[in-house]
Amino acid sequence: MTTALRPAVFLDKDGTLVHDVPYNVDPQQLRFTPHAIEALRLLQAAGWPLIVVTNQPGIALGLFDQTDWQRLAAGLTERLAEHGVELAGIHACPHAPALDAAPAGCICRKPAPGLLRQAAREHRIDLAGSWMVGDILNDVEAGRRAGCRTVLLDVGNETEWVWSPRREPHHRCSDLLQAAQHILAGEMKPPRSHPSLPPEAALAADQRSRIHATPWPAGTATTGTARSAMN
Ligand SMILES: [Mg+2]
Ligand SMILES: [Zn+2]
Repeated sequence: MTTALRPAVFLDKDGTLVHDVPYNVDPQQLRFTPHAIEALRLLQAAGWPLIVVTNQPGIALGLFDQTDWQRLAAGLTERLAEHGVELAGIHACPHAPALDAAPAGCICRKPAPGLLRQAAREHRIDLAGSWMVGDILNDVEAGRRAGCRTVLLDVGNETEWVWSPRREPHHRCSDLLQAAQHILAGEMKPPRSHPSLPPEAALAADQRSRIHATPWPAGTATTGTARSAMN
């Protein structure tokens, strides 16, 4: 069966969806950012698949392992489900930052666009119709390199401001709700050249929340459901 590509909203996790607790893998410590739930509900109601794309270098650094990460991701999925929000997926880069002298260690650590491309293949996402929302310019760059439009949550988490044209956000705002409103306002304008959304039923069937993580150090991608990740 083939289905038309559909646009999505990609969300950074730390500092965007939840408050940034460095290297946290304790689901109890998950705290949503202001208006995050309201924002995701609005986007979901309008038919946007929601996909989290997150750098998790703590895995490569040995601070926690894939099991810990899967538990955190399952916890995040559950917390959102309590609020009626379903993620289409969670994609994580488990690799460490490349050393200055070394070539890039992986293709998925933001600001590289690999996580978005991986998610697009898996969920049949139209990247050109999609948005990437994050709290630092590496999120913006990842989104632009993947061909998405971008929103920077200008909340003080970006501190270096290393600038280039591909790090210029299409829009800036101060919380996820404003980001969602901007995305939804754009929807009112004539659509860009991407196929229309599939029927609601197909969308819902395809939105079963799944968790994904690229194996470390490299290799074949693995996927699993939130449920099985907990067992
Ligand atoms: Mg962040
Ligand atoms: Zn990676």
